[in-house]
Amino acid sequence: MSELLNGKVAVITGAGSGIGRAAALHLARNGASICLFDLNDNRTEEAEKAIHELGGESLFLDVDVSDPKRVEQAVQSVIERFGRIDVVFANAGINGTLSPIEDLTPEAWDETLSTNLKGTFLTVKYAIPHMKQDGGSIIITSSINGSRKFSGFGMSAYSASKAGQVAFAKMAALELARYKIRVNVICPGAIETNIGESTERTKQVDKITIPVEYPEGSQPLEHGPGQPEQVADLVLFLASQQSSHISGTEIYIDGAETLL
Ligand code: NAD
Repeated sequence: MSELLNGKVAVITGAGSGIGRAAALHLARNGASICLFDLNDNRTEEAEKAIHELGGESLFLDVDVSDPKRVEQAVQSVIERFGRIDVVFANAGINGTLSPIEDLTPEAWDETLSTNLKGTFLTVKYAIPHMKQDGGSIIITSSINGSRKFSGFGMSAYSASKAGQVAFAKMAALELARYKIRVNVICPGAIETNIGESTERTKQVDKITIPVEYPEGSQPLEHGPGQPEQVADLVLFLASQQSSHISGTEIYIDGAETLL
């Protein structure tokens, strides 16, 4: 085990699958105790087992990140168990409903914004009081859809939530610098995960949308989507003191996809 995060406690939302799971394992491998916040019991329990096999410590909390009470309680449970929070990876997210704007229901809009944007706000909000004394690192998962690449019809709610996360991260970096809390936002391109399962499509969007597929060459550095483990390397860097002078930055991890 490396010692980059020895003695540190990390809260990771969406830790049961994809990018969150890969980050949970990688941070555990580097010495952090991991608090997994997720809705998906089976996958998250399996992720926790994998952490234990690495010799790491963990705490799984069944949390809907859009529920203020639940997030607050879960953070309290982390404090009761570990007494501190050093790293927050606000990563839980859904694609939500892909639909032309005129057919997108207010409920579908709310679901995407509540999970992706409000969930980020709540996770950060309730962690701050426990990070103020010793400082720490907050990492937020946005997307290339949050600022650079607006392709794929029907993704207005998703893109708005992801753009909101970029703005939120920058304001948080400014506000929290006085406590030596760094805040950065990562913007992945296509990564091979289970996120497709969270996609609802309206009939109308099927007719007009570009299929969400990643043909060879769509990312110049890869022949298809990137892997969650590649994102986990970036999360570890941002979580550790190796990035001690980096805050308020958005970092693209997209195999140069956004240059095409
Ligand atoms: P994933 O579906 O594999 O993992 C997402 C996890 O979040 C799941 O375990 C799910 O149960 C959890 N989750 C969903 N809603 C939740 C809620 N309300 N409360 C708690 N947990 C919840 O997907 P992923 O690709 O690993 O997604 C992680 C993040 O990466 C998301 O924010 C996503 O928008 C972002 N992202 C993904 C890609 C990609 O191509 N996969 C690209 C850019 C950004």
